[in-house]
Amino acid sequence: MEISAQPQAPEQIEHQPLLSPHGNLPCPFCGSVQLALITLRDSPDNAPTAVAIECDTCHATGPVANAENQMRALWNERLAPAADQSS
Ligand SMILES: [Zn+2]
Repeated sequence: MEISAQPQAPEQIEHQPLLSPHGNLPCPFCGSVQLALITLRDSPDNAPTAVAIECDTCHATGPVANAENQMRALWNERLAPAADQSS
């Protein structure tokens, strides 16, 4: 894929520390709790269009969701043992 000279990305990406997150389980790959919250916005004034968790240690990225609560739930769900596979 070739990236042409775009003046700027259509979305803004915020990357902020998410230390000892409330109710968030550590990284499933390295066990680190040094997680970062990634927020995508169309513009600084808009509400986030997508959020995700990234591990600051191994840079694994969790599921992308529309809202932070949903993202946290997905992250924790992803770490749970696959006891119930309903698909
Ligand atoms: Zn990790």
